[in-house]
Amino acid sequence: MNAPPLLSLRDLAVVFHRDRRRIRALRGLDLVLAAGERLALLGESGSGKSTALLAIAGLLGPEAERSGEILFPLLGRAPILGRDVGFVFQDPFSALDPVLDVATQIAEPIRFHRGASWSAARAEAVALLRRVGIEPAEKRARDAPHRFSGGERQRIAIAMAIAAEPRLLLADEPTSALDTVNQAQILDLLDGLVRARDTALLLVTHDPAVAARIADRIAVLYAGRCVEVGPSARVLGAPRHPYTRALLAAALSLDRPPPRPLPEIPGSPPDPERDIAGCPFAPRCPLAASRCRTTPPPRTGGPEDGVACHLYAP
Ligand code: SF4
Repeated sequence: MNAPPLLSLRDLAVVFHRDRRRIRALRGLDLVLAAGERLALLGESGSGKSTALLAIAGLLGPEAERSGEILFPLLGRAPILGRDVGFVFQDPFSALDPVLDVATQIAEPIRFHRGASWSAARAEAVALLRRVGIEPAEKRARDAPHRFSGGERQRIAIAMAIAAEPRLLLADEPTSALDTVNQAQILDLLDGLVRARDTALLLVTHDPAVAARIADRIAVLYAGRCVEVGPSARVLGAPRHPYTRALLAAALSLDRPPPRPLPEIPGSPPDPERDIAGCPFAPRCPLAASRCRTTPPPRTGGPEDGVACHLYAP
């Protein structure tokens, strides 16, 4: 990546203060994302993936304390959510107004952020509905969100998120509430849209099959840190970090039914209220050595392809 990245996270940390508890959701996350690149954040629940998206979007809320840097070098200014950055939530109802018709909701960011007239924005909204597979678009444009199925609502939410032509689209488990057929269709739709518009995509998922389907690169998160990052084919085909290997061994697939019983990684992630002295994966790692429990593993390799594990330290 010789050109400046679109997005750069440097030592990003987030602590939530709840009822006198300090919950460490991110513990120093470093990542880069190039313009037009598709990066998946992969990990178990509680690994900090969604918190990273909320921090980038500026949606953390008052109980969060943030440190580190979130930089948009290509923009040269702070991004505006809705214009420079679009957000697709897991539950499309989070983004949709239940009483307004869907064309009005898609037209609003086109009008507000791009200065289009109301009639031009509405015509573009209908075209976007058609683009995301809602037909007959002109007729259904006048319907409120409750008239659509779950998969259709997610398509509408995606149309709304890309309406202002953002440089970056953030997507938080956008298919995990959908059935397998809808999952694959929505992923293919997202893929086609971001490719056609050269929009960068940062997608959160717990499912390696989802990451494999859409991402150029994968960053594996564990206990609020990136433990491995690299091109998708390399991470999925030749994973280096013991956690990545365990995650892939336990993975389900979009294309085959889940095995019974479901495989899982033995042990539990670290307590988010506790400090971690060494490697966060040490209590679950079959290759842990004594230094793993006392010394944080250094990251070897670059920000685009690297691993944080003592096995690879010089
Ligand atoms: Fe396992 Fe040690 Fe590597 Fe952590 S640093 S993943 S404990 S080998």
